[in-house]
Amino acid sequence: MFLLGTQRVNEEAHLEIGGCDCVELAQTHGTPLYVVDEAELRKRCREYRSSFEQRYPDVHVAFAGKALLTMALCRLVEQEGLGLDVASGGELHTALQAGFPPARTHLHGNYKADDEIRLALTSGVSRIIVDSDPELDQINRLAAEMGKVADIAIRVSPGIKPKTHTNIQTGQVDSKFGLGIETGQAMPAIKRTSTLASLNLVGVHCHIGSQLFGLDSYARAIEMMVSFLKAVRDETGLELAELNLGGGLGIKYVEADEPPLVAEFAQVVTDALKEECAKVGLGLPRLVLEPGRSIVGEAGTTLYTAGVIKEVPQVRTYVSVDGGLSDNPRPALYEAEYGVICANRAGEPATEVVTVVGKHCETDTLFRNVLLPPLQPGDILAVQSTGAYNYAMASNYNRFPRPAMVLVNEGCAEVIVRRETYEDLLRCDLIPARLR
Ligand SMILES: *Cc1c(COP(=O)(O)O)cnc(C)c1O
Repeated sequence: MFLLGTQRVNEEAHLEIGGCDCVELAQTHGTPLYVVDEAELRKRCREYRSSFEQRYPDVHVAFAGKALLTMALCRLVEQEGLGLDVASGGELHTALQAGFPPARTHLHGNYKADDEIRLALTSGVSRIIVDSDPELDQINRLAAEMGKVADIAIRVSPGIKPKTHTNIQTGQVDSKFGLGIETGQAMPAIKRTSTLASLNLVGVHCHIGSQLFGLDSYARAIEMMVSFLKAVRDETGLELAELNLGGGLGIKYVEADEPPLVAEFAQVVTDALKEECAKVGLGLPRLVLEPGRSIVGEAGTTLYTAGVIKEVPQVRTYVSVDGGLSDNPRPALYEAEYGVICANRAGEPATEVVTVVGKHCETDTLFRNVLLPPLQPGDILAVQSTGAYNYAMASNYNRFPRPAMVLVNEGCAEVIVRRETYEDLLRCDLIPARLR
């Protein structure tokens, strides 16, 4: 068992987060429940800003909203002075409704609808990151119609395959994202931009993958990107002002995980960037980062109530909890592993190996072979590091209402996403008259 952020075991041997007893949180708000540790979240935002700003003259850290986006999250990120990276019209709408400054927001996506681009242009987002050649014409056309000039960056693929699950490698040649440097698609797109009157090219972007532990992948990406910036300068005379390196820093999911510190990440990135730029005689570009998981991941904990406990003799013990695939699809998508704590008996030694499963009509194994104290129905299980890509990926599979989310800090718990009701499930359903 390991503790993260403000987690501690209190006098009643209960797990506590942000000064709130998890057993009480479960009683008050029900389970499954997403708990967000405000102090830990803010600390991560500050670590990112201070580590990079100390080492580099011009840095913009934008939270990758796809990891976890709610209106309250937008407010927290705004207060911490970060920017926001959105990847859909829905994410952009959420940010705008929460009052997040568009000038600190940029739009991603490998297939943007006209409406999404129009929303970005009317609201005045700072950048649109272009993912393909046809998208250049699409944005140019829409911007011209609206009498605007769109500031864009072009996403390129540096041809790097970092060590992580294949579904979250995104910078290799065989990828749906970006324009390949090696395949010769990136340079022509850069050159063509100058022929499109309603586009203003400000930089290049890459994002090599997610849940990365090896900082050497970033150093290699920087080498590729800077040599590409040099090639752009040599072939077009254009010195691009901005280099966006995406996100991807890994976090701790299980005891054995030892992710790099944000400060170590900042050191490797800024050192490599300064060195490579000096080598090829380029001025330092503005550096943009888009961390998602490493901002919110460890700040999130999911609480479940254990129900049916079934022993398959000589095989294993299954513990069913009152959620599953619908609130956390990552075990099914990426074979993701997590640390689990019995929140109401956090002081007891973990002596039993059990497999925690969800309650969907599916073999939704959540946590295989986790070590816990002997469990009883009604025990509260706390799952570590569920802040990123859990609520964000949640579904209503089996018509499960999505869980609530509470923000905890200094003994205070506030609901920032209310639990869905059965009524919510029917909100969009219509019955044609002939079926009534
Ligand atoms: C997913 C994504 C991120 C954030 O990745 P994390 O691994 O959560 O840090 C940043 N930029 C882009 C373009 C992404 O697709």
